[in-house]
Order: sequence, then structure tokens, then C-alpha cells
Amino acid sequence: EPYRRQRQMCIRDSDNTVLLGVAERYKSKGNHIITTNIEHHAILHTCEYLEKHGCEVTYLPVDENGMVTAEQVKNAIRDNTVLVSVMFANNEVGTIMPIAEIGKVCKEKGVFFHTDAVQAVGHLPIDVKAQNIDMLSMSGHKFHGPKGIGALYIRKGINLPNLIEGGAQERNRRAGTENIPGIVGMAAALTEAVNNMEENTKKVAALRDRLIEKILKIPHSRLNGSRENRLPGNVSVCFEGVEGESMLLYLDMQGVCASSGSACTSGSLDPSHVLLAIGLPHEVAHGSLRLSLCEYNTEEEVDFIAEALPPIIERLRSMSPLWERLCRENSFFTHDKH
Ligand code: PLP
Repeated sequence: EPYRRQRQMCIRDSDNTVLLGVAERYKSKGNHIITTNIEHHAILHTCEYLEKHGCEVTYLPVDENGMVTAEQVKNAIRDNTVLVSVMFANNEVGTIMPIAEIGKVCKEKGVFFHTDAVQAVGHLPIDVKAQNIDMLSMSGHKFHGPKGIGALYIRKGINLPNLIEGGAQERNRRAGTENIPGIVGMAAALTEAVNNMEENTKKVAALRDRLIEKILKIPHSRLNGSRENRLPGNVSVCFEGVEGESMLLYLDMQGVCASSGSACTSGSLDPSHVLLAIGLPHEVAHGSLRLSLCEYNTEEEVDFIAEALPPIIERLRSMSPLWERLCRENSFFTHDKH
């Protein structure tokens, strides 16, 4: 089977296992997969791979907040649709998808529903039964567990092939000696995250809102993603006339760890596919900043960032030919209310 070639020994193999496994095991049911155009590359690149090997993939467009609707999913389902894969929450802009509604549509239509819940597990309440989730991917380091360990939930009755040959570990689903310290560490971290979720969410969301409010006072800035349906720890903003990577350097010099998009693509200078998909022009998408907060952050740290940022932005704008043109032509993408 060509599908087997793509296997990698990393957490991304949870997303890979679902897509490649369903495509292989259930091909008599159909060869059409539905996903969104803002998924993590663990999904998108695997879908592209499958397209080269006989599958058809529909990439649903998202709205300006990075949201798809259950209606869009329903309208895209065809007779040969075998799988819908929609992320629980987006890793760059923090938007939380209407998972229960999408799960309901998939159940009604008899199509498997997978969600990449890497950003949601440990931070948002999840009930695979109530939300009709058939398969769910998660990763330990997103809730303070060890790096390099993840898990795939598979509903009873779904039979995915072992895509790695050579052993019967994990009930024939993933050959190879289990990473026991990783597994135990992830379980312990998850137990702690779930037990403290309500309290943590309240604290982290308050920090997030404080930071967003302060950052948006900077002229010609914008919040990316949904204001209401947003991961508690996600702050994603764009500043016009600023180059994101330089902003990161200046922040780094002050001890602030930030990213300009997805950490996984931080080696790439292409604008984020997510920011382009929500309708941002290239030059605005280039001025993006993503800050991730957790319960160990403090109001002092948030205020420190909010004070550090304006002079950095001002400095970068003063050197930017793009900013000079935007001012001269008054051709801003954002509209300031200040
Ligand atoms: N899916 C999403 C939504 C993610 O945010 C990430 C990591 O950031 C991944 C998949 C990949 O997880 P890992 O880095 O553990 O392979």
C-alpha cells in the first residue's frame, strides 16, 4: 500500500493514522474526505498525499474568524464521503469550531468524524459521546505533559490498520515498544489539567483578554480569530507595516517567547496559510504575532509584554517602506477606532 510510506515516528502519526488508515481500510465505503483549509499541516499534507493516491479531498473555506459551519460540512458530504476531519480549535488564531454540530451531521450521514483536538484537550471540556466524535488526536506537550507523546482516541467498532509493521503493540495498532515515561507523564498531566480546567480557564482567559485589550490600543493592529469562541490561552494579532520575524527578535531580547504563526513553520518565511485563509492580505499576514498563555503566567508578565510592544512596533514602522507607503496613501487594511 502506498499509504504506508508516509508514516513518521512522531505524534503527527495520530493524525496520519486516521487519514491513511481510514483511506486504506474503508476504501470500499468511499474515497472522499472533507476537511478545512486551516488545519495543521499534519492533516493538510497528509490529505495532499492521499490526493496523489486516489482520494478526493474537499477543503472547506473558513469565514473571517476562521470558522466553518456544520451546514458547510453537510452540503459537502457526498455518497462517496468516508471521513470528515475538522480541528477542534485552530492552533494559530484560536478559533473553536462547532464540533458537536459537525459531529451530529456526520452521525446522521453515516460518515466518520475525526477531530484534531491537539489545542483543545486539557483546556476545553470534551465529551466524545455527546459530541459524536469517532476519532480524536491529542498531544501531551499542549497541557504541560512531556514532549514527543500523543494519543489517538478511536471509537469502539472502528478498525484501523497497523500502519507500522513489525509488532503487535497497542493492540496491533502501532508497532514499537511503548514510550512508558511519556505515556505515564501525559496521563498525569492530563489528569491535572482536567481536574483544574475550570479554574485555569477562568484565570487564563482573563489574562488573554487583558493582553488583547492592551495590544489593540496600538494603532493599526487587529485581532485574528473569533473574539468569543476562542481558546483561553490564545492571543493572535497583526500589526500593519511591521515584519513579524523582526518583532520576534526584539521581543526575544526582552525575554518574551512568541511566535509569528505556527511554531511548526517558524523556519518558513511564507505567510501563514491560516491567516491567508481568513482573508488577510500577504503583507498584513506577515506582521503577525502569536502569544500563548497558560495558568503559570501572571498579570505582571502580560503587562510587561503590553508595555514592551508599542516601542518595538514604532521602531520597526519607522524603518519600514511599507509603513511609509500605507501612511502616504492612507491605504490601511485595518480601520482604527482610536
Ligand atoms: N495539530 C495541531 C492543531 C497542533 O497545534 C499541533 C502542534 O502544534 C499538531 C497537530 C502537531 O503536534 P506535534 O507537534 O505534537 O506533532
